[in-house]
Amino acid sequence: MQERTQFYINGQWVTPSSSDSIAVHHAGTGAVMGCVPAGGDKDIDAAVAAARSAFDAWSQTAPAARAEFLAKIAAGLKARADELGKIMAQEVGMPIKLSGRIQAALPIATFGNYAKMAADFQFEEQVGNSLVLRDAVGVVGAITPWNYPLHQIALKVAPALAAGCTVVLKPSEVAPFNAFILAEVIHAAGLPAGVFNLVTGLGTVVGEALVKHPEVDAISFTGSTRAGKRISELAAQTVKRVTLELGGKSASVILDDADLATAVKGTVGNCYLNSGQTCTAFTRMLVPETKYEEAKALAAATAKAYTPGDPMAETTRLGPLTSAAQLERVRGYIAKGIAEGAELVTGGADAPAGLANELRGGYYVQPTVFGKVDPRSTIGQEEIFGPVLSIITYKDEEDAIRIANDTIYGLAAGVWSADTARAQKVARRLRAGQIDINGGAFNMNAPFGGFKQSGHGREAGVYGLEEFLEYKSLQLKSQA
Ligand code: NAD
Repeated sequence: MQERTQFYINGQWVTPSSSDSIAVHHAGTGAVMGCVPAGGDKDIDAAVAAARSAFDAWSQTAPAARAEFLAKIAAGLKARADELGKIMAQEVGMPIKLSGRIQAALPIATFGNYAKMAADFQFEEQVGNSLVLRDAVGVVGAITPWNYPLHQIALKVAPALAAGCTVVLKPSEVAPFNAFILAEVIHAAGLPAGVFNLVTGLGTVVGEALVKHPEVDAISFTGSTRAGKRISELAAQTVKRVTLELGGKSASVILDDADLATAVKGTVGNCYLNSGQTCTAFTRMLVPETKYEEAKALAAATAKAYTPGDPMAETTRLGPLTSAAQLERVRGYIAKGIAEGAELVTGGADAPAGLANELRGGYYVQPTVFGKVDPRSTIGQEEIFGPVLSIITYKDEEDAIRIANDTIYGLAAGVWSADTARAQKVARRLRAGQIDINGGAFNMNAPFGGFKQSGHGREAGVYGLEEFLEYKSLQLKSQA
């Protein structure tokens, strides 16, 4: 059992203002695997006060010294990588092998990357008679979700610290244990007291207290579009800078000259990563009308190979969903798809057959493919966040572009074609933040973020660092 009873505030482990706690469940079994404290306004006040008083000194610390701390944090996380991979396989449900490769490895790489960037970044430049400085924005409130919990934390905390900001982190209450390990690593790295603070609790309580706090200068949020809207409203009262990384309904556009088998396999694999609980998941597969039957057969065969199983088993490809709430939501969407008349190609709303007895309480769902989905239907428009693929047919390239863009979201997309120039031409017309051409790989130095209701602002690379900087110009008087 993981039992956490304290917050990390001002360089120390401190007792919360109340004894309320939140139970955390093992996604693979549904059993309670531990608990974390449920904070309140007083805890946020203490954490923000610590971050505020640490800000002056930290923002004035030489970037090279900040870089050294970040490198130490990367090394500290690396030393605990196995433990991190295991804990996130349990709290998120991602199969252990992938959890190690993604959930544990990406944050280590991100801290390492920002260590280099802090050392190399040009924090000032001369423009005419002005010296233009890039100052730290101030105290940052970081609010993160549960699907890639430590990755999303690292994408905020590492660049914020590199920029010279101090941070109060409010991680997801659904998968919070990884954040406590990060706090231990940060403590061991000797980061000055108050530079990083951790408070857990409910979004509507501690999350909102952080967003409303007058001493917080910026909020960096990743999560649902619903919460993002609420946060924007609250943050407007104190004119805070807000970065939002929200949901998606990403299209994988398979052009008529693409290698269909590769494109369908790539799309299904992308859609099912982390059991579909990936904000960039290719959940809408757009295929030419004439290729529908072939694409459907390929998608069904690929999907059936994703047998749901124990996230702790080395051979599992499809883990459970993360929570009971998520299970109910995804099953509801599958039932809705059937009710709205989409063709159920494989899967369904019932629990998967053949699960071992000890897994029966876990949050498993069948890998599901719907065919002939009406692009305007509920499952064609709303983010499901489960292993559910919708195949949508199109008439010609113009029609494909229109359907791909016909969504409130704009986070990601894919384009597949034998002609990369043609694929790029289509990609340029898609209103989304990152577009993979023929399965092009994730790049941690490329900007990550969305158009439209997928949010605003960018994370990763130098673009992520710039979110935590303010411009300041000093007008210099000529000596002559
Ligand atoms: P969520 O919005 O429910 O919660 C995210 C975080 O916000 C949690 O820490 C939660 O406690 C907090 N929160 C909730 N309501 C709040 C409020 N009113 N004020 C302040 N904080 C609040 O989202 P989730 O269910 O944890 O995550 C899933 C969602 O996140 C999906 O929609 C997914 O697409 C999105 N997501 C986006 C990205 C991206 O980079 N664009 C990455 C991962 C996940």
